[in-house]
Amino acid sequence: MTPARRTELFLDALLALLGPGHVQLRDADIAGFTRDWRGRYQGRALALAEPADTAQAAEVVQLCAAHEVALVPQGGNTGLVGGATPDASGRQLLLSLRRLNRIREVSVADGVLVAEAGCVLQTVQQAADQHGMLFPLSLAAEGSATIGGVLSTNAGGTAVLRYGNARSLCLGLEVVTPRGEVWHGLSSLRKDNTGYDLRDLLIGAEGTLGLITAASLHIFPRPAARRTALAQLGHVRDAVELFQHARGALGAGLTGFELMSAHSLQLVRRHFPGLARGFQPDAAWCVLLELSDSEGDEHAQQRLETLLGGALESGLASDVVVAQSLAQARELWALREHIPLAQAQEGLNIKHDISVPISRMAGFVESTAELVMQALPGARLVVFGHLGDGNLHYNVQAPLGADGPEFLARHQELCNRIVHDAAAACGGSFSAEHGVGQLKTPELLRYKSPVALDMMRAIKAALDPQGLFNPGKVLPHLPPGP
Ligand code: ZN
Repeated sequence: MTPARRTELFLDALLALLGPGHVQLRDADIAGFTRDWRGRYQGRALALAEPADTAQAAEVVQLCAAHEVALVPQGGNTGLVGGATPDASGRQLLLSLRRLNRIREVSVADGVLVAEAGCVLQTVQQAADQHGMLFPLSLAAEGSATIGGVLSTNAGGTAVLRYGNARSLCLGLEVVTPRGEVWHGLSSLRKDNTGYDLRDLLIGAEGTLGLITAASLHIFPRPAARRTALAQLGHVRDAVELFQHARGALGAGLTGFELMSAHSLQLVRRHFPGLARGFQPDAAWCVLLELSDSEGDEHAQQRLETLLGGALESGLASDVVVAQSLAQARELWALREHIPLAQAQEGLNIKHDISVPISRMAGFVESTAELVMQALPGARLVVFGHLGDGNLHYNVQAPLGADGPEFLARHQELCNRIVHDAAAACGGSFSAEHGVGQLKTPELLRYKSPVALDMMRAIKAALDPQGLFNPGKVLPHLPPGP
């Protein structure tokens, strides 16, 4: 049988299974799905399949296995490392989970919410809220990122400091295996030591080991009050010192501690001039603190004012603002959340998502800035991120007026080497919360130990022996087996 005939048979079977309304074949209809959010990768797909539920998703996977068609799972398509974009061959099936978008269950007594993979993160937050509970995972793309995507990438965001990343918020999974079987692992147990942790293996696997179709998620009692504040500081080491004070004074109430360079905020002001009018930072760095308080607004306000008043008095901070209303808190957060959008408007840039021990953070920022500026004079550093997690987005924008794509093509490798080597030298990671996707596979090979890589390859080969699940992502293509 010719390859074209085999493809035809596969597509016929897929159409018969899902119906013509849920299999898109024309490039024009698929265009929005074959390009990644950052515009770095443009793939082609054999088709876009949109199963309605787990049973249909399993049948699609069985078809793929029978016809040896590779598949690329996709949620909200907001990933930053090209993990959900098919390759350029036009032979991979894009499998969208968007129709699996039901909240199956909310149990306040168990502190569990069960959501399907295609549920948008914000929808899950709202569902928890309607029950007086909190689902704390929060990130800039929460209006379109999906639960399947945030679990597949083990996303972090702005509340990791208090509640942990996506992995810590997941109690169990429902997964379609590469053989097309369904693993019903939607546990609501906090404790369950019964062998290898399959849940944790699937989380962060970026769709290379199986297809997450639903998850049981931790939800928490909603705090009585939340307060946001912003402090301006001269140096990253001052921000680290303020963080230590804040952790001591606020304990587990400290839910967020975000760092933003003045330059990041200037970009926001340039591209979103309507945001936080009147706020003019004059120091080199700003931090955004969020406090969740179990007593109430006044108590929260007082605790933040005491902490930041002390920072002003000691000269650690040059200016502080405690938001007086929810609206003002939202404005402050909007500044932080618009940094990635402002960067995208400014043009292509070299993104890094590094983590280092907090004690090494200030040294890392200072020495790496020097190395980057020596190698790439005129480059603009856009540094911001989750200082409280030791995670920074250490991004490098082309010099003013320079061509973004050309800058990227010429300098990305050198720039990655400088920043990632510096992180590694501090005992850090080249990917704290974005994953590996296709963008960072070379880094994985460089920075992971051969022993770790061998174990990863063994797991991949055991669970996906045909190599059909998101091939080329995380681990480079496997050599053909014996
Ligand atoms: Zn982040």
